[in-house]
Amino acid sequence: MNFTEILEKKRDDFELDKEEIKFFIDEYTSGKLPDYQAAAFLMAGFLNGFSKNETSFLTQAMLYSGEIVDLSSIPGIKVDKHSTGGVGDKTSLIIAPICAACGVPVPMISGRGLGHSGGTLDKLESIKGFNVNLSLEDYKKIVKEVGLCLIGQTKEIAPADKKIYALRDVTSTVENKSLIAASIMSKKLAEGIDALVLDVKTGKGAFMKTQKDSEALAKLLISSGKSMNKNVIALITDMNQPLGSHIGNSLEVIESLEILKGICRPEQEDLRDLSIELAAYMILLGKKATSLKNAKELARKAIKNLSAFNKFKTLVKAQGGNEKMLDDFSLFPAAQFTHLITSPSKGYLKELNALSIGKGAVILDAGRANLDSIIDHAVGVIVKKKVGNKVEKGETIFEIKYNSEDKLKASLKLFETAYSISNTKVDKLDLIKKVIGA
Ligand code: URA
Repeated sequence: MNFTEILEKKRDDFELDKEEIKFFIDEYTSGKLPDYQAAAFLMAGFLNGFSKNETSFLTQAMLYSGEIVDLSSIPGIKVDKHSTGGVGDKTSLIIAPICAACGVPVPMISGRGLGHSGGTLDKLESIKGFNVNLSLEDYKKIVKEVGLCLIGQTKEIAPADKKIYALRDVTSTVENKSLIAASIMSKKLAEGIDALVLDVKTGKGAFMKTQKDSEALAKLLISSGKSMNKNVIALITDMNQPLGSHIGNSLEVIESLEILKGICRPEQEDLRDLSIELAAYMILLGKKATSLKNAKELARKAIKNLSAFNKFKTLVKAQGGNEKMLDDFSLFPAAQFTHLITSPSKGYLKELNALSIGKGAVILDAGRANLDSIIDHAVGVIVKKKVGNKVEKGETIFEIKYNSEDKLKASLKLFETAYSISNTKVDKLDLIKKVIGA
C-alpha cells in the first residue's frame, strides 16, 4: 500500500477501509511512517471526521497493535475507570486504592498529560522512584498481590496509542470523538479488565464542550466495550471548573492523599464526591456491594478507616516509590515562588474557566508544549474559591506555584481572565449530569 494515497483519500473525505487503517497504525507503530505523515493523517481525520466503521477499525487496529493481557488467573471481577480528560482530575489516584481496599482488583493503564489536561502517569512520577514502566509480568504480579497497579502503555499494551497519543498532544488533534474513543478503548480493552466505569467530562475544560457531544462520545465508548463483552457504564460529569482545588503534578498527588486521609476542605468537596460516586459504580460492577448506596458506604468506610490510604502506600512501595512522601508532603517537589491572584471586588464567584487554568498550568510547565518538553512536577495552581462561593474584595482566588518569572508572565493573562465575579448569588455547578448504561 502507498501511504500518500491513503492520506489523499482521507484529506478528500473518502471513507477508509479496514486494511488502510490497519496499514496506517502498523506502519506508524513500527516506526516506518514518519511523524509528519502521521500528523497529516491525524489532522485530515480531525477536520473531516471518522465514520463509525473507521472508528471501529481504528480501535481494533490500535488494540491489536499489542497483546491483550490475560488476568484470568487473578480472582475477582477486574474493574477499571477512565476519564476522558480534564483539569485537576486526579480521581484515579483516589478511586483505585478505594476499590482495591474494598476487594475489587483494579488493573489501570493510564496516560500522560494531553493538551491542557493532566495525566495520571505524570502525577504519579512526582513520587520519587515510582515506576510506571513495569513489565507485564510485574504488572500482573502487583495486581494479584496488592489488588491494583497503575502503569503506562508498555510496548506490549496498545503501543499504537502510546505513539499516537503523544503526537496528538502536540499537533492539536486531541478533541475528536473517534480518536478519543479509539485511544481510550484500545488500552482499556487490552489491559485485562472485565468491566469499566467511564468518566466522560463535559464543559469548558473538557475535550467535549457540550453535553450532546459528551453523550455521543459516551455511547461510542460503551458500544466499543460491549462489542468485546465488557460491562461499561459512563457518567457524564462537569468540567467547566477544575475538579478539587489543586492543579499540577505534585500538587494533585498531595490533594489526592488528603482526600484518602479524610481531609476535605469546601473547595475539594466535588473531588471527594465524584471519587466516591465513581468508586461506588466500580464496586458495584465488581459485585462487592448489593446496591449503589451500599457501595458508596463501603467507599466512604475505606477512606474513614484509612484502608484505601494504606492500600495506596502498599502500591507506592510495590512500584518502587518512596512511601515516606505520603506521610510527609514536604518531600514532594515544591515550586520556589508563589504568586497570588486576588479578587478585585466583593461578590460570588461566577466562572472558573477550567480550560484557561489548564492552559496556564501547561505554560508554567505542568504539561508539555511539544514532544520533548520536560515536565516540572513542582509547579501548578491552587484554586481557593469555586463557582458559587462568596468572595470578599482582596481574597485569594488562585495561588500560582511557579519556578520561572518568564513563564509566570506568559501565563498570567490566562489566570487573570479565568474567573469572573457576580454581585448576585450564583448556584453551585451540577457535578454529575447523567449516567449512561447503568
Ligand atoms: N484519554 C485518553 O486515554 N485518550 C484520549 O484521547 C483522551 C483522553
